[in-house]
Amino acid sequence: MANRRLNADELLKANKVVAAVRAALEDLAGDDRDLLFAYRRKVFKELIYDERGKPMMRRDVKQKKWVQQGGKCAHCGEELPVAYSELDRFNAPDGYTIENTELVHHVCHVERQKAKRYT
Ligand SMILES: [Zn+2]
Repeated sequence: MANRRLNADELLKANKVVAAVRAALEDLAGDDRDLLFAYRRKVFKELIYDERGKPMMRRDVKQKKWVQQGGKCAHCGEELPVAYSELDRFNAPDGYTIENTELVHHVCHVERQKAKRYT
């Protein structure tokens, strides 16, 4: 499923939020570049968690999917070392859940993403 995209008006609104967040972080940090870096990194990390969930949760889903799929890639059916596996979401906004993901090789994941872009 293709991810929802912002229309021109929504993109404008998103850019305003980004500008406001930047201004707020610069205001908080003042002239301290290291502090600005730390604030920016913290906000970045929290927003990524909103989108992807926390690493421990994804690791847990990965392990369960690996067992569920019998250690095989859901795309090519070949052996899949869990350490080199990636979770592919059917519908990105639904997150990294058991029901919404398949475990695949990195190369298989890239192949799937390319295919999705051309549909
Ligand atoms: Zn594969």
